[in-house]
Amino acid sequence: MKEEVQLLIDLQELDQHIISGRKKQEKLREEQNELTVNTDKLTALIAQLDGEIATIEAERSEINQSLLKEQDNIEKSEAHLPEIKTQKEYLAMLKEVDVAKKQTKDLQEILQDRDAALATIKEDRDEKQQELDNLQSTSNSRCSEINDLLTEIDESLVSEDTKRAALIEQVPPRIRQRYELLLKRRNGSALVEARRGNCLGCNMHLPPQFFNNMLKKQGIDSCPHCNRLLFVMPEGE
Ligand SMILES: [Zn+2]
Repeated sequence: MKEEVQLLIDLQELDQHIISGRKKQEKLREEQNELTVNTDKLTALIAQLDGEIATIEAERSEINQSLLKEQDNIEKSEAHLPEIKTQKEYLAMLKEVDVAKKQTKDLQEILQDRDAALATIKEDRDEKQQELDNLQSTSNSRCSEINDLLTEIDESLVSEDTKRAALIEQVPPRIRQRYELLLKRRNGSALVEARRGNCLGCNMHLPPQFFNNMLKKQGIDSCPHCNRLLFVMPEGE
């Protein structure tokens, strides 16, 4: 096989390795992003629930204050009852106490309602926190695994890029440009074998005369259908 053909075969093999390394990195980064997005979502949800809890707790303490005030009023009013002289005043005071008691009962009901709501939200929050803790522990270990893999791929990409630079320098400029272009356009398959009269890139049949010439020349040609660079294996290989 001609040196030029072997050179291109080696170059493309290396390029495909480089391309697959980059794709792997991309996938790993996507996975890492997804993990972060999920933990961020849960963190935001927990913060929202914390906000709701704080609001309800503030409401509760306000209701409690009102409740204490009402109870205080009732106690004071009831303490005054024996001192009242007239029937009219007495009835008015009793009515006042009744209203305050009714008010107290209403406040207690609201308080119970708030307590129930608080318990539900707290339970929900604890569940989400548990979920986040679990996610974070798996996500942290997976993220560090991914970081190791990314570093590993980075290191091999650096050495492959060096190898590539040395190889591409040896490729004749007329082929080099076409190779680079095809590599991009044909998703890493710039060079393919022509076998039994077919291009193995596009699977189209090559004109017999063209293929016979290729067998004779044993060099690099272009597929008349897909434009990929073509080579033939020497007979018997
Ligand atoms: Zn082709």
